[in-house]
This record gives sequence, structure tokens and C-alpha cells, in this order.
Amino acid sequence: MSKVAVVGTGYVGLTTAACLADLGHDVTAVDIDSEKVHVLQQGRPTIYEPGLEEVMARTMKAGRLRFTEDYAQAIPGLEFVFIAVGTPPGRRGEADLVYIKQASKSIAATMRSTLTIVNKSTVPIGTGDIVSRIVGEHLESEIPFHVVSNPEFLREGSAIHDFTHPDRLVFGSHDRTAAEGVARLFEKLETTILITDLYTAEMIKYASNAFLATRISFINEMARICERVDADVKVVAEGMGLDRRIGPLFLEAGIGYGGSCFPKDVKALARMAENNGLHPELLDAVMEINLDQRTLVIEKLREVLGGLRNQEIGILGLAFKPNTDDIREAPALDVINSLLLKGARLRVYDPRAMPVARRQLNSVQYCEDAYAAARGADALLVVTDWEEFKALDLEQVKTLMRRPVIVDGRNIFDPSRMRELGFVYRGVGRS
Ligand code: NAD
Repeated sequence: MSKVAVVGTGYVGLTTAACLADLGHDVTAVDIDSEKVHVLQQGRPTIYEPGLEEVMARTMKAGRLRFTEDYAQAIPGLEFVFIAVGTPPGRRGEADLVYIKQASKSIAATMRSTLTIVNKSTVPIGTGDIVSRIVGEHLESEIPFHVVSNPEFLREGSAIHDFTHPDRLVFGSHDRTAAEGVARLFEKLETTILITDLYTAEMIKYASNAFLATRISFINEMARICERVDADVKVVAEGMGLDRRIGPLFLEAGIGYGGSCFPKDVKALARMAENNGLHPELLDAVMEINLDQRTLVIEKLREVLGGLRNQEIGILGLAFKPNTDDIREAPALDVINSLLLKGARLRVYDPRAMPVARRQLNSVQYCEDAYAAARGADALLVVTDWEEFKALDLEQVKTLMRRPVIVDGRNIFDPSRMRELGFVYRGVGRS
């Protein structure tokens, strides 16, 4: 068992803290957001993540997980501190390191003995050196420390499962022994461990996210071609995915990727390439295709309805993907703003994300369920593929709507069944 701190209690930090405590470590999680810390101290998760509340309850009861705003309570006497603060996009798309720098200073000001600083946030290549420099500059006395990169690959919505069943764990450092020391914290997990240098570890995260985003934009480009040649992109993806060299995942055509990772990470990687004198043509195309997908569903609505002004449109889904309440860079936000600008009236429903959405979206009517969103609507637009939308009683939906129009931005319904039921139905990439 090791004494560990986790700095930042967002999606990554809170999951990491709770799961490290569940592996048997003694964990203190630090956040500068006092409101968040107050809620967490009562054992209440500040995000919706399946299974998280149970892990928190178990580990807090066992006295292995606690929360504080005070670095001085968390850092002295520790062996490891994980940094899991946000790295949002800066003005030109580059990752903004302000929180990483603040966290590094606070760690340096409070550490009293040898410490390994582990960076979990997604950061531009070389950030580990920036952390080293800042910590070195702010130490009150000569204390040895190491910096290790341990990029995080968990997915919101299945974060606990992903922590406990990772495909691989990556540790990178200028000091291999330090990286191996961090790897030992996870030895109870059965997985492949990759130990490498600092820059390569930092790059693996960006390359992985950029590749996944590329697969999504690739299949979306295929979807556009499918629509013109009367092919069905869902079956095309199935046929491609059966090839072991390709595999089936991340080949779902639709309204495009969103969330707090893919958009910002692809942008930051492209910016890094440019800063190094390169022209990231592929990454630029990936981003352009992704944004166009949002416009394409609006075009479909406009075409079927013969215009958007004063049309009543039900929006199914706000979260950027199912099983999360996260709406950061969610396609729904762009689509909603665009539809509002075009004069549409919107009735929205999401199983989890409405409390978060209410804080930034107020020109829409929030509905208690998907049926309420359908009531009196001229069209329904599926934006997030929540399971409960797949299970809707479509006959009931049809009787509630003013016009039976569904634009399915996630291809959750079967086009021929929708036609049989009498809907005017438009999916993505399906004839
Ligand atoms: P988040 O915005 O949900 O949480 C960040 C937290 O850090 C917030 O609670 C904030 O108050 C806290 N914070 C900021 N500055 C701080 C400081 N100086 N000291 C202590 N706490 C501070 O972010 P997230 O989604 O958890 O992402 C964190 C990092 O992990 C990002 O770099 C992200 O790209 C990466 N990542 C995220 C995911 C994901 O699915 N969300 C997956 C893999 C990697």
C-alpha cells in the first residue's frame, strides 16, 4: 500500500482517486473547487459515472479515501502525487497549461520529502519537463523528485470499468526506475504495461485519440458517399469491421464526435505539428469533416420540413455520448444554437445531462422524458444514442408528434421499420 495524492477531482481525478483507494492505497484527493470538495467529503460524486458512488462509499468507509482543498494536508509525507487537472483548449487550439502549472507550484510549495509526480492529464509533448522546471523553481529546499507521464485512456460512462480493466498502462519518464515505481501501484490490474520515455508516453495519448477521431471522420465520409450511391453505411461498417486488421469499433457514422477530449486533443496535436513546421493535413480534414456532420443533420431537418422557422423540434440527447452528464463540446450544443438561430423552437430531453445543460442553455424547453419532447413536435432529432431512446415505443411517439419526422443523428433506428411505422425517417449514410 502506498500513500498517494490525486490533484484534480474531475472525471479522471475522481475516478483515479477512488479506484486507487480500491486497489488498497491510501489516497487524498485535492481540488481547488471548494464546493466540489464539500460535496465529495459527504461521499456524493460530483459527476454521473456508473459505479463511482459505490467505490467512493466503500473506500471512504475503509478510511482510504478523503478529500481536501488544502495541499498542505495532502502532499507532505507522500510517495506519489497524480496530476489530473484540466487542459482545456487555449485561444489558438493549443492545450492551456495554466492548471498544470498552478498544480505544479502548489505541489512544490508543500512537498517535504522525495516525491514522484505523475501526470495523468493530456498534455503537449514536453510538458513533463515544464512540470520539472516549475517544481524545481518553487521548492523551498533541495528535495529529489521525478516526473512520470501516465496518460489516461478511460472513457466517461465506463470510467470505473476502464480503470480496472485497461487495455494497457503507459508510463514514461527520463528515469525508468521512477516509471517502474508508478507501474507497481497498479500491479493488481492484469494488463500490458508499457514503459517508455517521457515524450513518447505523452505522444501515445494524442496519437491514440487522434486515431480514434480519424476513424469516426473516415466512416462519416463513407456515410456521405453511401447516401449518394444508395448504400447503407451501417452494413458497410459491419463488413469492414469483420476484417481483423480493421476491427468494428469507432466505425459508427453519425453526428460526429464531441466531448472534452477528442475535439481538443486533435486540435492541440494539429497545433503542435504546425509549431514544429509540419502541415497536419489529415488532422485538419478529420476536424473539418466532424464539424460538417453537425451541419448535415440540420440540412436534413430543413429539407424534410421545408424550412426551420417556427418549427417545433424535439431534441433527444444533450450529453456528448450516452451514460454521462458531460456536455463539453457536445454536438447537441452546436446543433441547438444553430437551430435556434434559424428560428426553430426546441423541446429537449436527456436522461442525465439536463441539470448541467440548464446552466448554459436557456432558450429551450426542458422535457421530463422523450415522449414529452415528442409531444406536438414537427420533427425529432436524435443526438445522443442513449439506450432508453432505442427502446422508445415508436407508435406512441408517432401519435404524439404533429408530423412524423425523425432525423436520426446516431442511426439508432432501423430505416425499413421506421418506414413501415409511417415515419419520414433520415439516418446518416443510409439510403
Ligand atoms: P475536469 O475538468 O472534469 O476536472 C479537472 C479538475 O481539476 C476540476 O475539478 C478542477 O477544479 C481541478 N483543478 C484545476 N486546477 C487545479 C489545481 N491547481 N489544483 C487542484 N485541482 C485543480 O477534467 P477531466 O475531464 O477529469 O480531465 C482531466 C485531464 O484528463 C485533461 O487533461 C483531459 O484531457 C484528460 N483526460 C480526460 C478524459 C475524460 O474522459 N474526461 C479521459 C482521458 C484523459
